[in-house]
Amino acid sequence: MTSQFHGKVALVTGAASGIGRASALAFAREGARVVVADIQVAGGEETAQMITSMGGEALFIKADISKAAEVEELIRQTVTHYGRLDFAHNNAAVEGIIAPTADYPEDDWDRTITTNLKGTWLCMKYEIRQMLQQGGGAIVNTASVVGLVGAPGLPAYCAAKGGVVQLTKAAAIEYAKAGIRINAVCPGSIYTPMLERLLAQPGVEASALATLPIGRIGTPEEVAGAVVWLCSAAASYVIGHLMVVDGGLVAQ
Ligand code: NAD
Repeated sequence: MTSQFHGKVALVTGAASGIGRASALAFAREGARVVVADIQVAGGEETAQMITSMGGEALFIKADISKAAEVEELIRQTVTHYGRLDFAHNNAAVEGIIAPTADYPEDDWDRTITTNLKGTWLCMKYEIRQMLQQGGGAIVNTASVVGLVGAPGLPAYCAAKGGVVQLTKAAAIEYAKAGIRINAVCPGSIYTPMLERLLAQPGVEASALATLPIGRIGTPEEVAGAVVWLCSAAASYVIGHLMVVDGGLVAQ
C-alpha cells in the first residue's frame, strides 16, 4: 500500500469483475477509499472484501448504470458515506451479441447502447455535479480500441465505444477549467470474463489474438495501472486523452 491517494475517494463501476476489479484494487493500493459499484452483488462484495482484507477501505453499492435513478443514488450514497468523490472510473459495460450490422437484433442494439454509452454518460452527469461542488476531480472512462477501429460482428459495441470516445473529449473540454480532468482508456484484448465469453462465441478466432505485436493477451492490472496514472498528479496536464492499452494492436 502507498499513500498517493490518501484521503481520496474513488468510484469504480463494473468492479465486480475483470478490469473494474483490478482498478478498484489498484486505487485501494494507492490509499484511496473505494466505492465498488456493479449489478453483480456477489462479485461486488467479493471485490470490497479483497480490499478490506488488504487493509483498505471499500463499500459495495449495487447500481445499474443504465438507470438514472440508480446512478444518482450511487453518487448520493458515495458522498453520504465517504464525504466526497475524487476519482471515477466509468468502466461497466456489456459486449452484446455477435452479429453483422444488417442482422443485429434491435433489442440487443438498445441494451448495448443503453448500458455502454448512456450508462457512461449518466455516471459522468452525476459525478461531474459532485466534483463541481468540490472544485475538481478526475474521471476515466473505459472505451476500447474498437471505439477507434472497427471490429466485425460487434456493431453496437463499436458504436457505443466510439460514442464513449467522443463523449470523453466533449466533456473533457467543457470541464477543464473547473479542475475536472476527463480521459479514457482504450483497452485491446484483456484477459477477463468478457473476453472469455467473446472467444466462446462461434466465428470468433482466438488465433487473431496471436497477431498482437506484443504476442500475448493483456491483464486487467495493465489497464488498471493506466487508470490510476490518469487520476494521479503526474497526469495533471492530461485532458481528453485516449490512452490505448493494447500491446501494440492499433499501432499496426
Ligand atoms: P467483465 O464482464 O469482466 O466486467 C464488466 C462488469 O460490468 C461486470 O462485473 C458486470 O456485472 C458489470 N456491468 C454490466 N452491466 C452493468 C450495468 N448495467 N450496471 C452496472 N454494472 C454492470 O468485462 P471486462 O472485460 O472487465 O470489461 C470492463 C470494461 O472494459 C468494459 O467497459 C469493456 O467494454 C472494456 N473492454 C474490455 C476489453 C477486454 O478485452 N476485456 C477490451 C476493451 C474494452
